[in-house]
Amino acid sequence: MSALTAESPATDASPRAETAPPILSVNNIEVIYDHVILVLKGVSLSVPRGGIVAILGANGAGKTTTLKAISNLLHAERGEVTKGSIEFDGARIEKLSPNELVKRGCIQVLEGRHCFGHLTIEENLLTGAFTRRDGSAAIKRDLEKVYAYFPRLKERRTSMAGYTSGGEQQMCAVGRALMSKPKMILLDEPSMGLAPQIVEEIFEIVQNLNSKEGVSFLLAEQNTNMALRYATYGYILETGRVVMDGDAKMLRENEDVKEFYLGVSGADRRSFRQVKSYKRRKRWLA
Ligand code: ATP
Repeated sequence: MSALTAESPATDASPRAETAPPILSVNNIEVIYDHVILVLKGVSLSVPRGGIVAILGANGAGKTTTLKAISNLLHAERGEVTKGSIEFDGARIEKLSPNELVKRGCIQVLEGRHCFGHLTIEENLLTGAFTRRDGSAAIKRDLEKVYAYFPRLKERRTSMAGYTSGGEQQMCAVGRALMSKPKMILLDEPSMGLAPQIVEEIFEIVQNLNSKEGVSFLLAEQNTNMALRYATYGYILETGRVVMDGDAKMLRENEDVKEFYLGVSGADRRSFRQVKSYKRRKRWLA
């Protein structure tokens, strides 16, 4: 699938090298908006059970579309999956409603947080439990658990969400997803518009939820640096195609990823001619 995989074999950390079946497997999907706009072209990826996997790429690469294809949210935008298949927890899910998916344990936290601004933080969190049928005592227990992971939310629980900070709203959106007792969270651009310290705080919580609660994560991120510090595996999307994938450490050390996505280069400042060859090095795009 990718230049990287062809040049340097995937390590044992690769989702494909896992022996247990992945919790999520996206197989060669194509997505078309408005019947004509082909946005995803044969995207395949997998998330191991209990893993944190990142989808990386610039603006418009197709990260959000991939997440929405998985959680079946494309119809609202006149998009549809026209090819390929998606499996979650051992079953095909392309025809399930987002509601049904949440009941099965797969939930998406949309880009831009999307809290109910006129509800308090606590009311927002409780809306996350609406698909549950295990009673108010269990829901209350989980609310306390969310507060244990997000002490800031406990402090702000009676505040209207609309008046809280961007970081608190992002925490509220993740906390609300947790209230559905998910096996997996699809997290779209958690770092967007947030100060680096808050981004770090949110990623730390994601890591904690992953290791302590066993929640698997698929993160869509433009912040490659941060995502590759917390994910174990990454897929790089460009114009709707996976152009590279690999173990996070390998991606962090890859020269092309450093130059194109991490803004780091070991070389001196480049001349125009060198810039041309630099662009040619983007051969994985072919
Ligand atoms: P961003 O970080 O900006 O959200 P992204 O990688 O998540 O970028 P997408 O939002 O998935 O990218 O968009 C991928 C492509 O699909 C873009 O070219 C975008 O213009 C196009 N697109 C997204 N939504 C629609 C839509 N509802 N109708 C038509 N085209 C769309």
